[in-house]
Amino acid sequence: MIQIYIPLNFLGVIYREIKQSLTDLDKMFTLMDKEREVADAPGAVDLAGLDQPTVRFEDVHFAYDPSRPILQGVSFDIPAGKTVAVVGPSGAGKSTLSRLLFRFYDIQQGRVTIAGQDIRAVTQQSLRRAIGIVPQDTVLFNDTVAYNIAYGRPDATQAEVEQAARAAHIHGFIAATPKGYATMVGERGLKLSGGEKQRVAIARTLLKNPPILIFDEATSALDSANERAIQAELRQVAQGKTTLVIAHRLSTVVDAHEILVMEAGRIVERGTHAQLLAAGGHYARMWALQQSDGQNVH
Ligand code: ADP
Ligand code: MG
Repeated sequence: MIQIYIPLNFLGVIYREIKQSLTDLDKMFTLMDKEREVADAPGAVDLAGLDQPTVRFEDVHFAYDPSRPILQGVSFDIPAGKTVAVVGPSGAGKSTLSRLLFRFYDIQQGRVTIAGQDIRAVTQQSLRRAIGIVPQDTVLFNDTVAYNIAYGRPDATQAEVEQAARAAHIHGFIAATPKGYATMVGERGLKLSGGEKQRVAIARTLLKNPPILIFDEATSALDSANERAIQAELRQVAQGKTTLVIAHRLSTVVDAHEILVMEAGRIVERGTHAQLLAAGGHYARMWALQQSDGQNVH
C-alpha cells in the first residue's frame, strides 16, 4: 500500500504541475477548434468599409447546442460611430452577441453584417483585426506585461504601450514592479487580480485602436472609484467608434444611442434611457432597483 500510495501522491503533484503549464496549450487548442468550426469561406475577401462600419444583427437565431436555443430572433443596428448598450439578467445571451460578432461561432439563421458584408463571407483575420473586445474574463498569456498589452499590435513602440497603460490606469502598478513592463504575468508569473487583468485588456484594446469596440462588463471587476475613472476613459475611446457595451451597472449606459434589454435570448425592450424610463417597463424597474441599492450594485 505504502509503495503505491507514495508514487500516486507524487504523481498528483506532477499532474498539477503539468496541468498548470498546459493551461495555455489547452486554451490554444480550444481556440484552434473554434477556428476549425468557423472556416473562411472559399474566396473570402477582407472586410472593407471600416472607416464607417455599421454593425447589424438581422433576425439572428443561435444555439451552442441544437437542443437548447439561446438567441431567438435578435435584430438591432449599431449605426457607424454610435454606442449601443445591452442590459439584462445573467444568462440572457448578452455575451453571446459579442462571441457571434467576433465569429467564434456561426449562427443558425439570420445574418450578422459589418458595413453591409456578411461576416461569414469575409476573412476571419480581417474581421478580428477590426474588432477590439474587453471581455468579462481576461486571459493573459504567460509572457511579459508589454507583450500582453501589445498583443493586438505587435509593432507598437514602448512609448505607445505605456500610453495605453496610463489610459487604462495600470501604468503605476506596472512601473512599481522590479522588472516593469518586462515582468512575466500569467500562471507562472506575477498573478494579477481580476481588476488588474481587466485593465491590461483595456490597455490592449486602446492600443489596438480598432473601428469596432465591444466592452463586455468591461469594468465589473473594479471598485467604483476606479470604475468611474476608467468609464470616462472608455467613453472617450468609444467616441466615433461603433461600440457595443454590455453592462451590468445601468449608470454606464445612460448616454447610449440605444439600449437593448435582453431576456432569455430575446430583446424585450429598446430605446434611449429617457424613453425606457418613460415606458415604465423592465428597464425602469431595473433602474429604480439600482438607484435604491446605491452605486455598487453587481
Ligand atoms: P449573459 O452574458 O447574458 O450572462 P451568455 O451569453 O454568456 O449570457 O449565455 C447565454 C446562455 O448560453 C446561458 O444560458 C449560458 O449558460 C449559455 N452558454 C454560454 N456559453 C455557452 C457555451 N460555450 N456552451 C453552451 N452554452 C453556453
Ligand atoms: Mg455575459
